[in-house]
Amino acid sequence: MFVRYLKQTQELFGNELYLDKMTNSPEKNKNAKSDLEKFYEEISECQKCELGKTRDKFVFGIGDPSANLMLVGEAPGAEEDRLGEPFVGRAGKLLDKILAAINRSRAKDVYICNVLKCRPPNNRDPLTSEVEQCEPYLLKQIEIMRPKLIVALGRVAGTTLLKIDQPLKEMRSKLHDYCGTPLIVTYHPAALLRNSGLKPAAWEDFKWIKSILDN
Ligand code: URA
Repeated sequence: MFVRYLKQTQELFGNELYLDKMTNSPEKNKNAKSDLEKFYEEISECQKCELGKTRDKFVFGIGDPSANLMLVGEAPGAEEDRLGEPFVGRAGKLLDKILAAINRSRAKDVYICNVLKCRPPNNRDPLTSEVEQCEPYLLKQIEIMRPKLIVALGRVAGTTLLKIDQPLKEMRSKLHDYCGTPLIVTYHPAALLRNSGLKPAAWEDFKWIKSILDN
């Protein structure tokens, strides 16, 4: 698995010592905006997996390129595929309200993207092969932005990034490590829409997230 990942990153980024750069440096990249734009141009026509054939839009990510907080969902849904922007449906509207409650927004100190950049048909879970092709793109976005904290939204994003098979409840309330960047797993906003009883726990998570970012 690890060897395959190294091969993919080498294929994408050449022989530079990619992993060395993954350490969580507090120093921000002053060129993050243009670097992200350049990277988008490089990958936006991707056809590495079958999702390239079925997608409408490639959903790269949106937000403040110098953000300290990066939110990562599993994959675009129907609305996201149509508009080319992550979290624009009902779940996205709730996410925006949660962000406002911690004094942040897509324009201010938050960047939002997904593990997969293309929509899986019928919103099925990402396949391992799709994640293997697409995850290096997320790693490159992280390398460019150097966020202080990554928040994985939902069980699928959490298990996919952490390579563990655990229920969300067990992944929550822990500071994990994702390739050198601290990572927290919390509920997917769609889960909060389905079960509002989960909202107090999600709010605890976001208060914790705010305290990490504000320190
Ligand atoms: N769910 C996700 O995980 N990502 C999106 O972009 C939209 C819904």
